[in-house]
Amino acid sequence: MAGPVRSQVLSVVLDAPLDTAFDYLWVASSETEQSPQPGQLVLAPFGRRQTIGLVIAVKGSSEVEPGKLRELLQVRGQMPALSGDWIALCRFAAEYYQRPLGEVALPSLPKGLRTESTVALDRALKKVVQAQPQPGAESGVQRPKLNTEQQTAVDAILRAEGYQAHLLFGVTGSGKTEVYLHVTERVLQRERDAGRQAQVLIMVPEINLTPQLEASVRARFPTLQVVSLHSQLAEGERLRHWLAAHIGSADIVLGTRLAVLSSMPHLKMIIIDEEHDPSYKQQEGLRYSARDLAVWRAHQQQIPMVLGSATPSAESWLHVSTGRYQRLTLTQRAAKNAQLPKVRVIDTEINKATDGFSPPLLAALKSRLERGEQSLLFLNRRGYAPVMHCDACGWISNCRRCTAFMVLHKPERRLRCHHCSLELRIPSACPTCGNVDLQPLGRGTQRVEEYLQQAFPEARVMRIDADSTRRKGSAQAAFDAVHRGDVDILLGTQMVAKGHDFQRLTLVGVLNPDTALFSQDYRAGERLFAQLMQVAGRAGRAAVNHDGASQSEVLIQTRYPQHPLYQALLAHDYKGFADTMLAERRSANLPPYSFQALLRAEAKTLQLALDFLAQARTLMPHPGVSINDPVPMTITRVAGIERAQLLLESTSRAQLQAFLRPWMQALRSLKARVNWMLEVDPIDI
Ligand code: ADP
Ligand code: ZN
Ligand code: ZN
Repeated sequence: MAGPVRSQVLSVVLDAPLDTAFDYLWVASSETEQSPQPGQLVLAPFGRRQTIGLVIAVKGSSEVEPGKLRELLQVRGQMPALSGDWIALCRFAAEYYQRPLGEVALPSLPKGLRTESTVALDRALKKVVQAQPQPGAESGVQRPKLNTEQQTAVDAILRAEGYQAHLLFGVTGSGKTEVYLHVTERVLQRERDAGRQAQVLIMVPEINLTPQLEASVRARFPTLQVVSLHSQLAEGERLRHWLAAHIGSADIVLGTRLAVLSSMPHLKMIIIDEEHDPSYKQQEGLRYSARDLAVWRAHQQQIPMVLGSATPSAESWLHVSTGRYQRLTLTQRAAKNAQLPKVRVIDTEINKATDGFSPPLLAALKSRLERGEQSLLFLNRRGYAPVMHCDACGWISNCRRCTAFMVLHKPERRLRCHHCSLELRIPSACPTCGNVDLQPLGRGTQRVEEYLQQAFPEARVMRIDADSTRRKGSAQAAFDAVHRGDVDILLGTQMVAKGHDFQRLTLVGVLNPDTALFSQDYRAGERLFAQLMQVAGRAGRAAVNHDGASQSEVLIQTRYPQHPLYQALLAHDYKGFADTMLAERRSANLPPYSFQALLRAEAKTLQLALDFLAQARTLMPHPGVSINDPVPMTITRVAGIERAQLLLESTSRAQLQAFLRPWMQALRSLKARVNWMLEVDPIDI
């Protein structure tokens, strides 16, 4: 005789813009089938389709009428359930960033888990379980002996019990990576010795630009399973890596911002390299800060975390002064004989630049070429020229779909809009007056490359920017050529500023950094300083030992040599810069001394967007929160859509959060004719 049919009511969230969980009925398909647990993935009917859901609770009964309660189609029992801690992390992110839990939790999972078919999952699980690291392989690399500052930092991190955030503040080349590797090794070892499983999460801003860190981690831990998680992995790989972290077979996960939401049941430490980097902020969909979520996660798990940077974010610097983070400082370059480069500013009012180059910079380049040393030129503007124009009638290359210029790309013979991707052939004559002599205005990396090839015909010039590295693998190939010594002058955008340890580089030239000094964006100075420190840090990584080698130097061309930002840079004085910046932020009541949220609206006409925001502004009382007037965004129109925004500010994070929740509900119930989205802690306003 068959026993009674076992069934259970489950509360399930789906990837849908609805801030509720749904009740479903599970019915055992056999006597032995286990009843589902929270954290399991299920296939659920939803409207007329089927979709993957996440069980968040098992309920005794449902308020839904028995006849209307729908039955689950399938439970993904082959995979261990996601933990309560992981659901709590997603719930925190959902609440803090004002999104439904399902819209946070489900999209964070690899696609292979979110399809109706389980073929990919079954196949991946098999491979992951089989893949065992080879025990016994000895580490081939030698560990450098830590210097005193590194040792002090390592000791402090290992001494901490439970949660503690450490800001590892170390100049470029001071050996922060070595500290990460040491603490990772020791934490894993310590947990294993105590008979516990352990995993470490190491986060990097952009995996492609930091291949050296990945290589060092793999080389240091040949017997451990190291997996990477980032958006450029193929789907199958991403699924396998995610599963390896989830079932606990991966010891070390190395990932970009999306890795902060990975499932790591035995997580014992989180490390964030270049914690100030803006790429930790997701700029679409769920607009989260991976750094902030990582801190929350470490606190929730009661584990140590390390935030490393040569130029910490204003937020982290403030946390140090209030004692929330512990600061560990590395003041010296770690490698033998390596020195910080000498930084000089070149006043271009006195040393007039022609074709973008001042005489001192040209002379410095020439001497590097003569000595067979490498130079790096930094210009954060790609393309040939940011705009084309007609001298005769004043025509200018506006994008017809955006409030932006079309950028001249000479090698591709195109005008391109960097905002909507519109492309046109370069007009052979002025569209308004027929003048055939259209002029490029301003200078991008392509134009500088062209000039260098004329000025130094014998030099091997390499340009690295988003255009030159469109093909997969081409960035890597370009960097390899630089490392091999096949390049004399490397030229590029912020892509060349990050992570690389160029051994033969003794000159860094910065062409035109001044525009950021006068930006409306209050974070522009902080960003510029970090970028310049980072690019400057590419020079002098190794001692050039042959006779008469140049001292490494950084030349910055500017019309404002006395600007405090450049003066702080000359002295390698991040602390001075940061203290001044924080004092200014405090008196202006800007973050990190206040908290912001931004409501953005997009519509066919600007008036519609502004009207919606005006309505949103007066929807309900907002104690402790000030709401500014709605304003058009700086680049108002993109691809024909008009955009406006409403800035909310408060000195209390709690008051801001308390207002946002009911406000979002009220906004959702408006029948708006606009697209709108809310961003908490925006970094571009
Ligand atoms: P950062 O991450 O702070 O910019 P890295 O970790 O890349 O610096 O270290 C810079 C260089 O110094 C690397 O070549 C590294 O091998 C070397 N290095 C690090 N620590 C030591 C040490 N204790 N002794 C000698 N060399 C070291
Ligand atoms: Zn004209
Ligand atoms: Zn455009």
